[in-house]
Amino acid sequence: SPTPVNVTVTGAAGQIGYALLFRIASGQLLGPDTPVRLRLLEIPQGVKAAEGTAMELDDCAFPLLAGIDIFDNPTEGFDGTNIGLLVGARPRTKGMERGDLLEANGGIFGPQGAAINAGAADDVRILVVGNPANTNALIASSHAPDVPAERFTAMTRLDHNRALSQVATKAGVSVAEVRRLTIWGNHSATQYPDLFHTEIAGAPATALTDDTSWLTDDFIPTVATRGAAIIEARGASSAASAANAAVDHVHDWVHGTPEGDWTSAGLVSDGSYGVPEGLVSSFPVVSRDGRWEIVQGLEIGDFSRERIDASVRELVEERDAVRSLGLV
Ligand code: NDP
Repeated sequence: SPTPVNVTVTGAAGQIGYALLFRIASGQLLGPDTPVRLRLLEIPQGVKAAEGTAMELDDCAFPLLAGIDIFDNPTEGFDGTNIGLLVGARPRTKGMERGDLLEANGGIFGPQGAAINAGAADDVRILVVGNPANTNALIASSHAPDVPAERFTAMTRLDHNRALSQVATKAGVSVAEVRRLTIWGNHSATQYPDLFHTEIAGAPATALTDDTSWLTDDFIPTVATRGAAIIEARGASSAASAANAAVDHVHDWVHGTPEGDWTSAGLVSDGSYGVPEGLVSSFPVVSRDGRWEIVQGLEIGDFSRERIDASVRELVEERDAVRSLGLV
């Protein structure tokens, strides 16, 4: 039987972790032919709860689950890792400045990057979910000089899926008929969901892009503030949909994106579309042969340019802030 793939999940005892682990263990991350070995990484206070989740995973008797190990130390947690889902992060608490938040996360993602550099498998792939995800990915990557930067990615797939759903509802079609939508920039309120290359049932989505007031006053803010709307409605954050998006991201990275479509992911910029090289920004992407590629050659009009630039400016500010803190 095939060798199990080592999947490390940080923040394993959190809300997203709880929604994520069962889907990984059931085969939805890597497919029905690939056994997985889970490595759960938590801070010491989270270990007991992670042990409880591991008991439940045992009780599912998943045929593909080859083992579960729990760690409170990144060096062990990332030893031999093929896929790392970096979910645990320091949440912003009341009165916390952005600089404090970045510093706290630097203390998490710097050592994790170093541990990945030291002990992960040669084919390691990393998805950062914990916020601020783009800059946390940048911090981790900068502490892993021997790992190609393209292996560090940040999640904007939930934003992408939210936008797909909004468009499908507006157009009265199923989500399967909506293609070529892009989330650009930062996974934050400045993100820009772009419909100017979107096709609905094979035709350009001009009815939507011509409706500037719907775009600016409804669609863009609805997508960008969806997380807050869910907290308001549920009284808890959007953990299941975030876990689902993480599964989609890794699944497509490993298995490829469908012909004729693309998705969105935060990747280290190569300078495409004027995004400064080295920033982790969301782009339109396809996955081929196990690698993400930025979709090239899309025409960017003034409406989009202004919004991409604004989100990228925020990424530059975050990078400059972590630089001045010595975190990258
Ligand atoms: P969640 O599992 O709900 O969220 C984890 C992270 O994902 C947060 O940074 C959160 O950002 C982010 N996130 C990204 N997208 C979404 C989304 N759509 N909805 C909600 N969150 C999203 O947090 P919990 O507090 O339940 O759990 C965190 C766990 O991580 C705890 O068990 C803690 O002990 C652990 N932890 C582990 C570390 C480690 O392994 N070294 C380090 C730090 C914490 P946002 O804050 O913006 O909501």
